[in-house]
Amino acid sequence: VKLTDLNPQWTQAGYGGTTRGRAGLWFDCPGACCATSLGKQRIHVPFRNPGDGGPDIPGDPRWQRTGDTFETMSLTPSVDASKFGHWHGFISGGEVR
Ligand SMILES: [Zn+2]
Repeated sequence: VKLTDLNPQWTQAGYGGTTRGRAGLWFDCPGACCATSLGKQRIHVPFRNPGDGGPDIPGDPRWQRTGDTFETMSLTPSVDASKFGHWHGFISGGEVR
């Protein structure tokens, strides 16, 4: 499934006394766990390297991002929401699998 089909939204983060834009991502859980439920779980991924061009944000967990749009985005490592009973997989080149 494409990331753009999962209602992606950029998030902001307060860090170092400033508000960092494009600092993370919310998207709908694409797992079978959410295929039949009335409401989808949203998954949040905070970035190591926000898309605002500023310096990296330290601390964990954070994900390394390439691609400046939802259509081209790749994240490493994998996104694992399994400990909350949700999806574990990869976002690569704008594809979620
Ligand atoms: Zn789910």
